[in-house]
Amino acid sequence: MNRREFLSNVAVKAAGGAIAGLAAGCSFSQTPAAEEMAEAAQSDQSLPELSWQCATSWPLGLDTIFGGAQVFAERVGVLSGGKFKIEPRAAGELVPGLEVLNAVQEGAVQCGHTASYYYIGKSPVTAFGTALPFGLTDRQQNAWLYEAGGLEMMQDVYANRFGVIQFPAGNTGVQMGGWFNKEITSLADLQGLKMRIPGLGGQVMAKLGVTVQVLPGGEIFQALQTGAIDAAEWVGPYDDEKLGFHKAASFYYYPGWWEPGPTLEVQINLNEWNNLPELYKEIVKSAAYEANIIMMARYDAKNPTALAKLQSESDIQLLPFPDDVMAASEEASFALYDEFAASDADFKSILDEWTVFRSAIQSWHGYAETAMLNYGARNT
Ligand code: CA
Repeated sequence: MNRREFLSNVAVKAAGGAIAGLAAGCSFSQTPAAEEMAEAAQSDQSLPELSWQCATSWPLGLDTIFGGAQVFAERVGVLSGGKFKIEPRAAGELVPGLEVLNAVQEGAVQCGHTASYYYIGKSPVTAFGTALPFGLTDRQQNAWLYEAGGLEMMQDVYANRFGVIQFPAGNTGVQMGGWFNKEITSLADLQGLKMRIPGLGGQVMAKLGVTVQVLPGGEIFQALQTGAIDAAEWVGPYDDEKLGFHKAASFYYYPGWWEPGPTLEVQINLNEWNNLPELYKEIVKSAAYEANIIMMARYDAKNPTALAKLQSESDIQLLPFPDDVMAASEEASFALYDEFAASDADFKSILDEWTVFRSAIQSWHGYAETAMLNYGARNT
């Protein structure tokens, strides 16, 4: 075993030990494998002391999503025996929340935690790093990124176009379709509706006749309450309840077809990455894996309670989008992808691979996975 393989094994063992430790009710830092790795780092005199800043797109109040950056940073610190420190900073502290990629690209900050689809203005290809409407769920997204070449393709694009390397580091799971002040009975009801929905979902909604608005999280409640907008999407029960949308609109729709499993990611300036010792690179990869798993687990643990609270405290109606809305939205989404593919070669080459993967995984998940989920949902 060469040094690289040894380091990789230590990192994988640490990540595995951490997960086993969680299952046994331990915190991450108490696992023997993590301690072994930290001791190895501490005793290696060749390893430098580093102190990085991490710009994020998140307010501190969104503890699950900002928590992804915290888990990542904490694990890098623990696994390096305290030698490699990363400090996550809330949106606006270092740079505005939607400027993280730019800051990392320019080297103004060493790393960031963000959603790549905030940067579709730079290239629509960035959407694949987070989510495309009618794209992949959390499980499917991880399979595509980690095991079907998706991350490798995306890393090539980021290296060439932005001088950045990225790793998945969080997921919200399928989001909700958002809050509406009237019932949506068919596609016709979307005509002229004023909705807060950013990104590609907004571009698809616009094709369906929706008047799209993009507002930051802190301004949505008032806009919905005053009738300045008729509908708004955010994330899901846990985050939505905090922002109080149920006090301003009573129809809560699902699913958020524009965000079936959005991945959040750690972005690192490529020069900074290339200068890291091999052990630190392995630690960063392991910490990002952990953040990716833990954020999804936290949402899955917190959303059921939050939804029950929303239902018990207010008179909300939980409704699925009508079939014709779903079908027209999917058709409009793929028409949009064809437009992007015609003008962006990177988008086209990734779309071709992604479309094949999506068909295969959706077909497979249509059997055992869907059957168990449907059976469970019917019997609760
Ligand atoms: Ca959303």
